[in-house]
Amino acid sequence: MDIHLSTCRKNKAAILWEGEPGDTRTLTYQQLSVEVNRLANALKSLGVKKGDVVGIYMGMVPETLQAMLACSRIGATHNVVFGGFSAEALRDRLLDSKAKILLTQDGAYRKGTASALKGAVHGILDQVPSLQNVVVLKRTGQETPMKEVRDLWWHDLISGRSTECKAEGFDSEHPLFILYTSGSTGKPKGILHTTGGYLTQARFTTRHVFDLKDEDVYFCTADVGWITGHSYLAYGPLMNGATLLMYEGVPTYPAPDRLWSMIDRHQVTIFYTAPTAIRSFMRLGDEFPNRHRLSSLRLLGTVGEPINPEAWMWYQRVIGKKRCPIVDTWWQTETGAIMISPMPGAIATKPGSATLPLPGILADVVTKEGKPCKANEGGLLVVKHPWPSMLRTVFGDPERYTKTYFSDFKKQKWYFTGDGARKDKDGYFWIMGRVDDVVNVSGHRLGTAEIESALVSHPKVAESAVVARPDDLKGSALIAFVSLKSQVSSGTPDLPSIQEELKAWVSKEIGPIARPDEIRFADALPKTRSGKIMRRLLREMVTTGKTSGDTSTLEDFSVLEKLRSSEED
Ligand code: AMP
Repeated sequence: MDIHLSTCRKNKAAILWEGEPGDTRTLTYQQLSVEVNRLANALKSLGVKKGDVVGIYMGMVPETLQAMLACSRIGATHNVVFGGFSAEALRDRLLDSKAKILLTQDGAYRKGTASALKGAVHGILDQVPSLQNVVVLKRTGQETPMKEVRDLWWHDLISGRSTECKAEGFDSEHPLFILYTSGSTGKPKGILHTTGGYLTQARFTTRHVFDLKDEDVYFCTADVGWITGHSYLAYGPLMNGATLLMYEGVPTYPAPDRLWSMIDRHQVTIFYTAPTAIRSFMRLGDEFPNRHRLSSLRLLGTVGEPINPEAWMWYQRVIGKKRCPIVDTWWQTETGAIMISPMPGAIATKPGSATLPLPGILADVVTKEGKPCKANEGGLLVVKHPWPSMLRTVFGDPERYTKTYFSDFKKQKWYFTGDGARKDKDGYFWIMGRVDDVVNVSGHRLGTAEIESALVSHPKVAESAVVARPDDLKGSALIAFVSLKSQVSSGTPDLPSIQEELKAWVSKEIGPIARPDEIRFADALPKTRSGKIMRRLLREMVTTGKTSGDTSTLEDFSVLEKLRSSEED
């Protein structure tokens, strides 16, 4: 940030912000710097030092970006937890990262109402022994429980603090942040990113993939709680001295044309969003974007999941008016920054393909044995050489790091992405989705194991298996097979009401994004002889529709018994 203060960008808008109710704020680089410095001093006054972990559980307000920058200024490692996650999910992430401070807010506006953040998690904060203080930003003014001494109001804490706080120098490998993401097994992993490499690639890719110029107004719709929010809402644009637009609320509030109206009002030139969002805009109909000129746009981007050619064409025609290139950017929480993407104007695009790896990225598609795949042959997506913004470890679990990412191609020392892909005859990459037990719902990554463990923690559930079914809108829908405990199933259980109870339970345990779309019951789940649930078969069943289809009755898996013997353990 400081590099801009001695240039003409000093008084340039860094953040244009719109709250959901329509309130707006603009912060220049100079003003942003003042706020970051003040907050950094406030954090220091609470005893935050280099290497301490600061949890951030906030919404889409400028203070969230200030919080991240204030941490990095003093060498604290931030751990941003998506505001849509439940209290339990927040607790687990604070416990695992041993967070010392939590920054949060009273509430945020969503769909026209003030929805509680601090109030929703207050009850679990006592379960995190490392937590010394909780700092609460007043956004909505709603009633908020505060614990004496521990909990402080943000405005009180920063009041009267010096607006100068020297940016300290740290080793390039100093931990910048931890961001939790789901894996195929166990609890979410704390992906650790460090300073020099991460910032280098975030800066380079923002500049070149988005062809960012000083005159641009750049709008990324990702929430700050995901990696896209870190790299392409916060660090990338700000390091490049860009003007970014940040929006607090729901894209369709108060009307389905909210985003298109924002694009016109702020004269947005670059727009970056997810395929799920594009598909839902498509469903709403062309009339909403057509109410606006959208003539300021010059570049469009997508991220988070494969984009189907139909959505790509709609995006290009209705939003980009056939004038704007589309950059389909493939990357992951672990890669930290974009890895496979066209460079606009330099690489010809094909709808549905992320095109080619960026310079310096040695990505390839190989067989399980590590042999190169032929043109159009499906295989595994690997990266054969380190890159600047690669994850450095799984926080507190180096073994899991090696096992998850480097054991499939141990001999070759390649990084395995968990994605399947193919390369066409021109060498273009077509990402085919996850090949592990990770599901991408609306561009958000969820581990089926995580949802299963939430389900079996419910007193009525004996066993559960969660699989994905392709979904036109969300990419994948979550189908949970559940067998109930015998004392529950031996009576005449009210299955529809248990379905609702279990869906609500998962929302509470993890967050609404993990809520299963369907719960199906079975006396017992089909298993291999060694006792492993046959998830592959369940996946096939939900995809091909070979289940009873009636979710209020028990599935009959007896036919699957026959398949047992042919199923490999
Ligand atoms: P996350 O780390 O939560 O951002 O999820 C990363 C995963 O999202 C990748 O492993 C892919 O499965 C998927 N993904 C991200 N970007 C793309 C893209 N442009 N095309 C296809 N899949 C993508």
